[in-house]
Amino acid sequence: MDHETARTRTDAALARAAALARDWAAGLEERRVGPTATVEELRARLGGPLPEHGEDPVATVEALAAGAEGGLVASAGPRFFGFVIGGGLPAAVGADWLASVWDQNAALSAAGPAAAVAEEVAGRWAAELFGLPEGVSVGFTTGATMASFTALAAGRHALLEAAGWDVERLGLFGAPEVPVLVGEEAHVTIHAALQMLGMGRDRVTRVAVDGQGRMRADALAEALARLERPALVCAQAGNVNTGAFDPLPEITDLVRANAGWLHVDGAFGLWAAADPARRHLVAGVERADSWTTDAHKWLNVPYDSGLVFCARPAAHHAAMTLGAAYYVETGGGERDPYNWVAESSRRARGFPVWAAIRSLGRDGVAELVGRTCDLARRFAAGLDGAPGLGIRVLNDVVLNQALVRFDDPSGATAAGDARTAAVIAAIQADGTLWAGGSTWRGQRVMRVSVSGWRTTAGDIDRCAEVVRRVAAAIPAG
Ligand SMILES: *Cc1c(COP(=O)(O)O)cnc(C)c1O
Repeated sequence: MDHETARTRTDAALARAAALARDWAAGLEERRVGPTATVEELRARLGGPLPEHGEDPVATVEALAAGAEGGLVASAGPRFFGFVIGGGLPAAVGADWLASVWDQNAALSAAGPAAAVAEEVAGRWAAELFGLPEGVSVGFTTGATMASFTALAAGRHALLEAAGWDVERLGLFGAPEVPVLVGEEAHVTIHAALQMLGMGRDRVTRVAVDGQGRMRADALAEALARLERPALVCAQAGNVNTGAFDPLPEITDLVRANAGWLHVDGAFGLWAAADPARRHLVAGVERADSWTTDAHKWLNVPYDSGLVFCARPAAHHAAMTLGAAYYVETGGGERDPYNWVAESSRRARGFPVWAAIRSLGRDGVAELVGRTCDLARRFAAGLDGAPGLGIRVLNDVVLNQALVRFDDPSGATAAGDARTAAVIAAIQADGTLWAGGSTWRGQRVMRVSVSGWRTTAGDIDRCAEVVRRVAAAIPAG
């Protein structure tokens, strides 16, 4: 293929993709939120035998859009409240397109100096928004799972180094034991990270929590008192169901006294630090050793985008670097992004995070966090105790999360579980909004997470109305 053909084909594919993308974005506000196609239909549309021959790139882009139609969830739109999922800020989406077209390999400064510097700067900006100590190291990961993996690897390194063991060289066989303590409500991905790190999902000590899912400091004190070694402790800023925060001031005191390593999973909750009205929720967080957060949730950066910070850069680097074998001689002073994550070749994730923070500014991030929290409270207030509908909000809505229960008049748990499941299914079938189910302290609930930048008070009122109407139509079973 000659240069002229390469250029015109690229131009045509980008133009067609841009047109399709703009159509989708323009329709986000009004389109049905959930998918309409079944997986079988999608397999039929996108499937078929391995293509024997190629086709024009514009035709391929169009085939993808046609095949995916009906199988796309409008989670970037204003009325998606499932899991904890944000949309994409305009500047972040634009920067993400550029990251694809520029196609930088953000492993090495030598392969993409601007990508490396964007990470450096966006990492520093984010750390400042969270009030983390100056000089923390940062890694841009695929998400919170890998951010926690990275942070816990750094903690594993530091604790074993203090015990005279080089875990990167010698591995865990024969190593001194590292006690691991996590709250009973730790996110499942903390256990996944521990599992991948050879620390075992089942050998961890689970520390009791209170009614909102917060780790109990007295229970942690007791568990630490039984240990003779420094421990790896995982606390949480923002429970995935209730949004509640572990008592970080007490927890940091306890872990400091134990000479352990404190990791804080703040996948979405850490962003509370950026809102002066909610900063108190994470008081003490700056005294931890490592932190996890996501940019693809509350900051509304496109997938995939997580961040890990570490107060002990040497431990972070030692746990992640590929070592001398991969060393590439550069002028000196550059930051090579691959040294801070479990990846080598990688996407330039720094660009969209840089763009999101720059386009919002400090006050814009605070506004986004504050507004979505207010909207969660508005949603909860529109449902809780609505006369005659048997709707209850089970958690203290301290953040952007609300847990909604649809009781059965008999008061029986199983009947309430069944009614809650039926209401959720009917809400999803209606399509005005999308919220999913979860289980909270043994009861089925509908979880509402307000994380998208597009959601307005009007959306919330319209959705609360739909939920009340659906609940009224599904009375006691
Ligand atoms: C979402 C979430 C995770 C996992 O994040 P991913 O980005 O999906 O890897 C971990 N912890 C908490 C508290 C979360 O909300």
